[in-house]
Amino acid sequence: MTDESTADVLIVGAGVIGCLTAYYLAKAGIKVIVVEADAVASGASGTSGGWLTPYSHTNDPAMLALSSKSLSLHRELSMALPEETGIDHGFQESPYLRCALTEYGISELRSWQADRAAEGNVMEWISPADIKQINPWITAEISGALLSNSEPTLDSYRLTLSAMEASEKYGASVVTGRVVGLTRDGSNSRALGVDMEDGSRIAGGAVLLAMGPWTGIGAAWIGSPLPVTPQRGQLVYLAAPAAGEGPELSSGFSAIERSGSVIKKRLTDNTVGSTREHVGFDRSTTTEARDQLLIQVAALSERVFSARISGQTACLRPITPDGRPYVGRAPDWDNVYVAAGHASEGIHYAPITATAMANLIGDGTAKIEISALSPERAGSQWSADGNNTDQ
Ligand SMILES: Cc1cc2nc3c(=O)[nH]c(=O)nc-3n(C[C@H](O)[C@H](O)[C@H](O)COP(=O)(O)OP(=O)(O)OC[C@H]3O[C@@H](n4cnc5c(N)ncnc54)[C@H](O)[C@@H]3O)c2cc1C
Repeated sequence: MTDESTADVLIVGAGVIGCLTAYYLAKAGIKVIVVEADAVASGASGTSGGWLTPYSHTNDPAMLALSSKSLSLHRELSMALPEETGIDHGFQESPYLRCALTEYGISELRSWQADRAAEGNVMEWISPADIKQINPWITAEISGALLSNSEPTLDSYRLTLSAMEASEKYGASVVTGRVVGLTRDGSNSRALGVDMEDGSRIAGGAVLLAMGPWTGIGAAWIGSPLPVTPQRGQLVYLAAPAAGEGPELSSGFSAIERSGSVIKKRLTDNTVGSTREHVGFDRSTTTEARDQLLIQVAALSERVFSARISGQTACLRPITPDGRPYVGRAPDWDNVYVAAGHASEGIHYAPITATAMANLIGDGTAKIEISALSPERAGSQWSADGNNTDQ
């Protein structure tokens, strides 16, 4: 076998996590090669809902502490990346309506509103009479709703492509091929690079595993547990109404009592999402999922049945037993790192993850408190019979 190429840092996986980490590293003058088995953004990063959800981890202080910082970085990227690449990734500050259909829903929403207010996030309470004016798509009788003005959306496919293209401008490159292992030195604590499926090798000073739901395979490479598993999620796309066919969607919305949400997008059609299915690595779409998604949100808006369905996608979330991603150095390795397992929020948390990883790999310290996300905890979350001990 021969060394085909070499870099300071090899990143395995060209999803949003890998590409944004490449961006921050390359911008700092570090030579990066991103190794991708398929194509840039071919995983969930290419077909996610693209909703930035600052309130999604309200019960997990470790994640909540990173949430608003990541949102700030997204706002910076929404200015910087289009300037660097000419690619608009559709970032927009979207309003969002959380609706209650019942008295129980009202009390849940009121309590949630009080918790957010205690954090400094004041949201407006909308009376039933005003809801349909704010969002004419809502046709059901609603008991009340909370309006949030700061839950941006973007096109995660364009974001990921743009991050990779900007990285290439700063000297990074992409190699297409499947990584099948780490090239080791005698000490077993340093990787010399990665072994490719075709028998070639790529040499690197450090290796980052950012393979999304496929990262679990890396357990065999690093010799310690890495319980990241796939969860399929399907989305349905609704075309904007043609002239005379009714109002445009003015905000995203969901009901606190039900699954399913409608997300307003700027560059693509609006999305209805999403399913949570444990079907291994199967990425096919199903008519059952399409019908289930539309029925769920029809509890708020019958307009979803008259809107034209313009597409349906399925992709895989990377899931960990405790719901937190693994971000940090791999146990017992000097120069192998992991950034994977962001479940339903990988787009939202990508900038803070990528910044921390670029700092850690480039400077030796993350400069952001990520110790709660350390891959070291994976050992206590995985049992020898293959069952996650937390589930
Ligand atoms: C339906 C759905 C909706 C979602 N909506 C949102 C949302 O609204 N907001 C949000 O924040 N998040 C959302 N997510 C979650 C988000 O999409 C993911 O958390 C995120 O995309 C994961 O990014 P990643 O880079 O870790 O992995 P991926 O995007 O999966 O990228 C991993 C890459 O690694 C490559 N790879 C794998 N194995 C190898 C190998 N051996 N060698 C080389 N390359 C390899 C793959 O080909 C792939 O390109 C959603 C997810 C789903 C399924």
